[in-house]
Amino acid sequence: MPFPVDLHTHTNASDGSDSPAELAAAARDAGLSVLGLTDHDTVDAIAETAEECRRLGIAFIPGVEISTSIRVGESENTPSRLPIHLLGYGIDTSNGPLVDTLASHARARSVRMGQMIERCNQVIERDTGRREAISASRVLDIAGKGSIGRPHLAKALIESGYATSIDDVFERYIGRGKPAYVKRAPVDTVEMITLVREAGGAPVLAHPDEYGTLDHLLPVLRRAGLVGMEVWYGEYDDATVNRLLRLAEQHDLVPTGGSDYHGRSVKPSRTLGMTPVPLTSVVALEAAIEAIRAEAR
Ligand code: AMP
Ligand code: ZN
Ligand code: FE
Ligand code: FE
Repeated sequence: MPFPVDLHTHTNASDGSDSPAELAAAARDAGLSVLGLTDHDTVDAIAETAEECRRLGIAFIPGVEISTSIRVGESENTPSRLPIHLLGYGIDTSNGPLVDTLASHARARSVRMGQMIERCNQVIERDTGRREAISASRVLDIAGKGSIGRPHLAKALIESGYATSIDDVFERYIGRGKPAYVKRAPVDTVEMITLVREAGGAPVLAHPDEYGTLDHLLPVLRRAGLVGMEVWYGEYDDATVNRLLRLAEQHDLVPTGGSDYHGRSVKPSRTLGMTPVPLTSVVALEAAIEAIRAEAR
């Protein structure tokens, strides 16, 4: 039996496979009482998902998952950036600066996708002699209206027979550090925390087990205005959850979480309600959103 709260999900407005109506129906079928939507760099699915959830009697928390990065590294001469996914809950989807920034991210995503397609084609040509194996128009077609991302390119590679699975694609082509991977333009985590707050949203750190040691990072982000971090995420085991929960307490951050559900075709192991996010965490998140909105007004 799934747990009743899931605060980290995607639709086909980004790289999930469910439409807003399908996501809400899947949430009902899983028995969810609270659903948070966190598409990558877009708020386009929020209105429709909210309406479907209202119809089905599911409490809905609007959100977004913004791809950002923070500067790490020792000296001016070795600038390197750590990619960080920042969640923003309760954002006002009509906030001009937020909408404009997300639109410019969408443009940057398209440019980056063109570069990754080109590199994939170079790898394929080198390995098989076949030229222009993947067409940009096919990848755009797969992405539909949504914010374009690597899973869309992965599908194109799989359907053309150049890879056997999503994992295979990331392992051989577009995972971080692989030959066809292209970094995203830097979008500063600290600046995005401010932007989310100004849009009345509560900034929360997504899947924090991916960023190495958190001892330095959490105080920096907390000072910048971070209010929460994910603790119950995807397949995190008990030891990880307990360690993150202690860190959240230590740094006075609201513990949140969710499955990172993308529908059946991307990350099929992530099912709605797979993580035991407590209702107290929803209450604390909503209080944080309320406080930030009062400040933004
Ligand atoms: P992008 O936003 O284009 O950088 O793509 C990021 C998305 O790709 C993530 O949200 C996941 O859905 C997916 N992804 C990233 N790394 C992997 C991986 N190693 N295996 C499968 N999917 C991945
Ligand atoms: Zn995704
Ligand atoms: Fe993420
Ligand atoms: Fe996600």
